[in-house]
Amino acid sequence: MLAVKLTGIEQMELVDIEKPAHLAPDEVLIRIKYIGVCGSDVHYYNEGKIGSQVVEYPFMVGHECSGKIAALGSNVRNLEIGDLVVVDPSVHCGHCEQCMSGRPHTCMNNKFLGCPGQLEGCLTEYIVMPAASCFQVNDKMDAEEAALLEPFTIGVYAVKLAGNPAPDTKVAIFGAGPIGLSILMKLKADQHLQTGMVEPLGYRLEKAGEIGASWMVDPVSEDVKTAVEEAAGGLMDVVFDASGEQEAIDHALEILKPGGKLVLVGIPPSAQYVFNMDLMRRKEITVINVRRQNGCTEEAIKLVASRKVNLKQMVTHYFQLRKAAVAFDMVAGYRDDVIKAMIFV
Ligand SMILES: [Zn+2]
Ligand SMILES: [Zn+2]
Repeated sequence: MLAVKLTGIEQMELVDIEKPAHLAPDEVLIRIKYIGVCGSDVHYYNEGKIGSQVVEYPFMVGHECSGKIAALGSNVRNLEIGDLVVVDPSVHCGHCEQCMSGRPHTCMNNKFLGCPGQLEGCLTEYIVMPAASCFQVNDKMDAEEAALLEPFTIGVYAVKLAGNPAPDTKVAIFGAGPIGLSILMKLKADQHLQTGMVEPLGYRLEKAGEIGASWMVDPVSEDVKTAVEEAAGGLMDVVFDASGEQEAIDHALEILKPGGKLVLVGIPPSAQYVFNMDLMRRKEITVINVRRQNGCTEEAIKLVASRKVNLKQMVTHYFQLRKAAVAFDMVAGYRDDVIKAMIFV
């Protein structure tokens, strides 16, 4: 079967690998349908690492996928052959201290699909996953939406960790990529009234407007603090950073009100941020870190199935699996007004 592997910095090769033949009793074989190209995949493609997570070549990235069940392990009862499934890429051990305390997403033995040193990814035709990682969505959504569900769950989780901001609070999001837009969609689905977007790329800012951002600010041509305060009529209760940029953190601390929350979702290119401690301490800002997601898949499925969110709004490009390198180059270079690129198999 076909697979696409990273073979060096900004290098990717189409290879022929063996289709998985063995299933443990609790595992399923999945025929991949759609794969989303994620910002984190692109970090591995461009830099060969994210923080301490370093790629050993050749390696297959990819963790946002949907597919159809092609074979069942002997103990699997909750799925049937042909079922369309959303794949939760995070495989936890179930018995460590983190798992036992309701934090499987920070499991000490966590294995994540397409994460170096853990599990090979899903840029291929078939993968094997535990049945417990598969959510059946047969009549709830199509295969493309099912692959978009994983990034959306991160938006759902970020909003939950922020304490589900009340509809009349003031919220800003930095970064209108797939995660920033997912946060916006979740807040809109919750009837949140005052969510604005700060984003330097015009086409992304426009997309945020289409999805329903209350105000939009371009941090390059406008003074962020003045523009946000004017547009929103005051300072922010909550700021979500989905950009991973130092400047966004600087601006966020300026536009937050005392007692506000800064929610860090984006992955910075280096492992460090500098915080203006004078501002942060005086305003007594709460900083919340978001590690992927925990337990938000079912809520995300409900929001999509009930048509409260339309995840396809963020998709701009489609590629065949054999053209994966073109998709990665496009996303890495922010070319051709790309937001979310999808690969179909
Ligand atoms: Zn992702
Ligand atoms: Zn564990």
